[in-house]
Amino acid sequence: MNIAQIIQKQKDYFKTQRTKNISFRKKSLQNLKSEIQKREADIIDALYKDFKKSEFESYALEIGIILAELDLVIKKINAWSKPKTVLPTLINFPSWSKIYKDPYGSVLVIAPWNYPFQLAFSPLIGAVAAGNTAVLKPSELTPATSRIVSQIIENVFDQNHVCSIEGDVSVSQKLLEQRWDYIFFTGSVGVGKIVAKAAANFLTPTTLELGGKSPCIIDETANLKIAARRVVWGKFINGGQTCIAPDYLLIHKKVKEEFLKNFEQEIENFYGSNPQNSKDFPRIINTRNFNRLKSMLENENILIGGKLDANDLYIAPTLVNDSSLDSKVMKDEIFGPILPVLTYGSEDEIDPIISHYEKPLSFYIFSNNKNFSKKLIELYSFGGGVINDTIVHFANHRLPFGGVGHSGDGAYHGKLSFDTFTHDKSVTKRFNWLDLPVKYAPYDGKLKTVKFLLKYFS
Ligand code: NAD
Repeated sequence: MNIAQIIQKQKDYFKTQRTKNISFRKKSLQNLKSEIQKREADIIDALYKDFKKSEFESYALEIGIILAELDLVIKKINAWSKPKTVLPTLINFPSWSKIYKDPYGSVLVIAPWNYPFQLAFSPLIGAVAAGNTAVLKPSELTPATSRIVSQIIENVFDQNHVCSIEGDVSVSQKLLEQRWDYIFFTGSVGVGKIVAKAAANFLTPTTLELGGKSPCIIDETANLKIAARRVVWGKFINGGQTCIAPDYLLIHKKVKEEFLKNFEQEIENFYGSNPQNSKDFPRIINTRNFNRLKSMLENENILIGGKLDANDLYIAPTLVNDSSLDSKVMKDEIFGPILPVLTYGSEDEIDPIISHYEKPLSFYIFSNNKNFSKKLIELYSFGGGVINDTIVHFANHRLPFGGVGHSGDGAYHGKLSFDTFTHDKSVTKRFNWLDLPVKYAPYDGKLKTVKFLLKYFS
């Protein structure tokens, strides 16, 4: 079957109304959960094969998150999918008004490689829970994991309901030429623009989960020991290949030296004196990305780390000093284990740096000065942020996860994943036993009554 035929079959399947049945959705998600549990060891092996992701990170940040999300959705799906009755207005009296939780129809999910299991299944769960059919395009850069993802989908779903189509960029392009009812894309800003243009052809609604340069500001009141540990964690987890990792540090001059001492110590505490030997530190995904990161280090003043091993696709946890905003490392999102350290002396030196960049996906502040962090949180527009830690906002399914402007459009996780793939269909039912004539022509003498009704009863 070619892509157009697969999509047509899914559209026909959607029309049968089967996916609208809540028990069917719940059963599908329960089956998905059991299949993932069965394949846990295979998933961990595949992630190790693809880029030496550790067993701990593979479970905690890929499998465990998805199982928790499935538990939540299975528990809540009945409540979330019930039509919601809202108060009618007097102007419509007598009537009732309801919001129906309507699936969009056929959905396309395009996933990236950095969390190739979690970022494929997380949106897919939302799409299925909301009653859509779905095609997933997993990343071609993690072939072992993408294969397992596809096998799991084949084992759980009728392919007219959900299927996975593997392949390179050309497959993604062919998928984007089709007409969808919703597109959910996670990936780079550049490809996000391509997706948005393709979606515009059919006015297809989208969620765009993108990236950007997420700042991490550390002021002179911060607890430097804790800050160092939490930045090392958020930056170097997944080998620095995390969309919400701190991209650069902006630290108060007074505390830079002490922070760096703590930072170096924490790297050693986490990964030993040679992180290349640590089983907990993943590799760069491929040679193209290795070379991209390597070129960012040219002409930079390396403070910590800096070791590169092309054969092993290894880049050590690395800090670079005082990079200029025009340098390669400060131009685009880094997306690797390199952290530039910039400094400021007074608060008014912060804004020219933050405002030099597009609205970031994440924003981190380490400070014990409540006014300082409050001011920054309120001043800047960003996807999501944390005070006194990094990336942990991701782990609360009650918080919408997504970017703003160049870092993305739309948000998901928990109930919001269900809402993302659901159209809120508004319906009013009028009753026939009373039909106030005020809204009907001829309007002579009725304007006063309408003004009164609109003012006091709408
Ligand atoms: P990418 O944009 O290169 O690829 C993502 C997907 O798009 C892949 O499936 C790929 O096949 C497809 N694709 C690539 N080029 C395409 C093209 N020209 N036309 C159509 N489809 C195309 O991103 P990536 O390298 O896989 O991931 C890294 C980027 O993703 C980083 O910028 C990172 O910040 C971002 N990201 C964001 C989030 C988030 O939740 N906001 C999560 C993970 C990664």
